[in-house]
Amino acid sequence: MTIHDDIAALIRSQDPEAAAIIEAEAERQESTIELIASENHASPAVMHAAGTCMTNKYAEGYPGRRYYGGCEHHDRIETLAQERAKQMFGCAFANVQPHSGAQANAAVFMALMEPGDTYASLVLADGGHLSHGLPINFSGHYYNPVHYPLVRDKSSADFERIDYDAVREVCLEHKPKMLLTGYSAYPRTIDFARFRAIADEVGALLMADVAHISGLIAGGQHPSPFPHAHVVTTTTHKSLRGPRGGLILTNDEDIHKKCARALFPGMQGGPLMHIIAAKAVAFGEALTDEYKAYQEKIIANADALAKALIEHGFRITSGGTDNHVMLVDLSAKDPKGFEGELTGKAAEKWLEDAGIVCNKNGIPEDPRKPMVTSGIRLGTPATTTRGFGASEMKLVAGFIDRVLTAGLTGEEELARVTGQVRDEVRELCGRFPLPHGEAGGVAAG
Ligand SMILES: *Cc1c(COP(=O)(O)O)cnc(C)c1O
Repeated sequence: MTIHDDIAALIRSQDPEAAAIIEAEAERQESTIELIASENHASPAVMHAAGTCMTNKYAEGYPGRRYYGGCEHHDRIETLAQERAKQMFGCAFANVQPHSGAQANAAVFMALMEPGDTYASLVLADGGHLSHGLPINFSGHYYNPVHYPLVRDKSSADFERIDYDAVREVCLEHKPKMLLTGYSAYPRTIDFARFRAIADEVGALLMADVAHISGLIAGGQHPSPFPHAHVVTTTTHKSLRGPRGGLILTNDEDIHKKCARALFPGMQGGPLMHIIAAKAVAFGEALTDEYKAYQEKIIANADALAKALIEHGFRITSGGTDNHVMLVDLSAKDPKGFEGELTGKAAEKWLEDAGIVCNKNGIPEDPRKPMVTSGIRLGTPATTTRGFGASEMKLVAGFIDRVLTAGLTGEEELARVTGQVRDEVRELCGRFPLPHGEAGGVAAG
């Protein structure tokens, strides 16, 4: 019996009700195509590390300086995670305790700014994150965000890319304490050196939130924010493919110390030691050659998907992608444009019914509301994990085209095509089982 079977049998016999729900989720992940750009399938080793006895311990404080006894092995696992994180990103200090990406950002803000201080970022509607200044988020409520734009000139080769001249102008005008780069829906390579030059010109700290692209960076497929950024935050569960959590990285000892204090005891209590154990395992994976090849494939797959969608008549914002993510402007596919039925909300629903999971997403200058939108965001980290290559991405583009075209035709046609595509999606997924197989759920028989 494997460890997987043991776990499955145990949960099933003790709590069939919860086991059935987990099992249903395992089956959903197994039989659908996951295109949400911020999701991935963590390895069995990572998931099982998260399911160990490490969850039982209070280890407030940091290795060697804990508020509780019995932390010997917790010091060792946290130090291992730190060392591997530093190696992955080529930096001097790592804090592996943030419970999430947003917590990591909150700690950095608390450490390096006073309430009311000004910082510059990209607005959520242009691809930023809610923790970069949404008014009802801590980042917009307690601080003063000013936003730099994307290039709006359609005739420019840089249309819908970061407008670096405007970043400089915004910074010269507002003299922010911090300049924030790194995004949630930005398909192009970030020029960290250029951001640093602007930050230096106005005396700002440069913060890079690489939540989405940290796997690409660790795998050498996107330029590193080091040595340019003063401080770097990331999630560990997106392209990085670890457990759900966050990280704070820096080369500056003073910044490291301030951020560590802001995180604990500033805003968190006991660290999630089982998640830190899983981070150590995931970071171990990230230091292998296979991981490098995986990250390379994510990019090749995103490029293949974007190109195939363009051939089907969709518009991809900025004309394509350099990384793992793309934004599809659906209005280009709808004869009625922004007045038509093909909204992000409709597309998300229609595709989900056909077994293709993605999220609606505003496109730059989107005329529709955030709960409706004119776009969908697609990413390839998860499908690449299950083994899809460029030819499968072309099939996926064809599925998307068929479902959305049918949706525009009418309800009957949509129902017919949805059924067909759902079967084809199931067949395709069956040929590419998830790495956790049945072990990720409680389905082991
Ligand atoms: C996902 C994301 C976060 C937040 O991560 P959570 O773990 O969901 O809190 C922060 N910043 C960016 C740019 C992100 O994309």
